[in-house]
Amino acid sequence: MSAPEIDQRLKAFLGAELQPAKPGQDPVNVPMIRHWVEAMEDDNPVYLDEDAARATGRPGVVAPASMMQAWSMRGYAATWTKPSAGGGAYADLIAVLDEAGYTSVVATDSDFTFEREVLPGEHVSADEVVEEISPEKSTGLGVGRFVTTLKTYRVGDEVVATQRWRTLRFRPKEADETKTAPRALRPRPALNLDNRFWFDAAQEKRLVVQRCTGCGTLRHPPGPACPECRSFDWDTIEASGRGTVYSYVVAHHPPHPAFDYPLLVAVVELEEGTRLITNLTGVAPEDVEIGMPVEVDWLVADPELTLPLFRPSQPQEA
Ligand SMILES: [Zn+2]
Repeated sequence: MSAPEIDQRLKAFLGAELQPAKPGQDPVNVPMIRHWVEAMEDDNPVYLDEDAARATGRPGVVAPASMMQAWSMRGYAATWTKPSAGGGAYADLIAVLDEAGYTSVVATDSDFTFEREVLPGEHVSADEVVEEISPEKSTGLGVGRFVTTLKTYRVGDEVVATQRWRTLRFRPKEADETKTAPRALRPRPALNLDNRFWFDAAQEKRLVVQRCTGCGTLRHPPGPACPECRSFDWDTIEASGRGTVYSYVVAHHPPHPAFDYPLLVAVVELEEGTRLITNLTGVAPEDVEIGMPVEVDWLVADPELTLPLFRPSQPQEA
């Protein structure tokens, strides 16, 4: 299919009803509300305590607004066995998107508007209409189109909530597309007059710490004023580069193309007393320990960016 042909075929879905209105599997009910509020740890009494709910002017207990979508669900079996059961344009739209190569999907955002609370015994139904299909866009996941739909939740004819729902339907990147691409650059620091000196020093493989010249307090990250005495006057000292692991995490996800994973992100406490966020190198994630002695090493990420990393200290020669 040519691009204009795809555009034409997708345009035909604007305003189309993807799923016709159909009541959810169960009416609004207290047992489902109880499971929900327990899972959410929401102890607002208006959801389970009749007297407390009436004291607020409500007719009785109400369902949490955030449960709205749950009341329109048709149950696992109906969804799994017949994705397009009951008619509607959903299956047709997916077929066109698939044929155009947009075989992957990721939800991007959802906006809810709640008109009123729903009560036990009310039966919620929802219909879903296509509002917008974007032109083809390039994204980090691959080229694709944003599909925006509007779901309208009703009790009888009365609208109780609407939900604007956006997904990206995209063509997944080919494996070798990512392989042959040049290595992504590390994210740049946001440089300003207050912190530039620190990154300039790092560029020369010097680890410096900002020092207040009023009271001598060291501080990191860099800032314009001393938190102790409010002085704006400062200089720097050269750190020894020795410290200990104060805390750390092992990042796996989401992967950023500039980094290797698993990625060790640590807070290192320098022997001068200040702490900095950095990466650990030369150590496996399972061997890192809090309090472990480390020393600075330098990562020349690219010609414009050199950053301090830390590796386990070498044992002192006897
Ligand atoms: Zn000071």
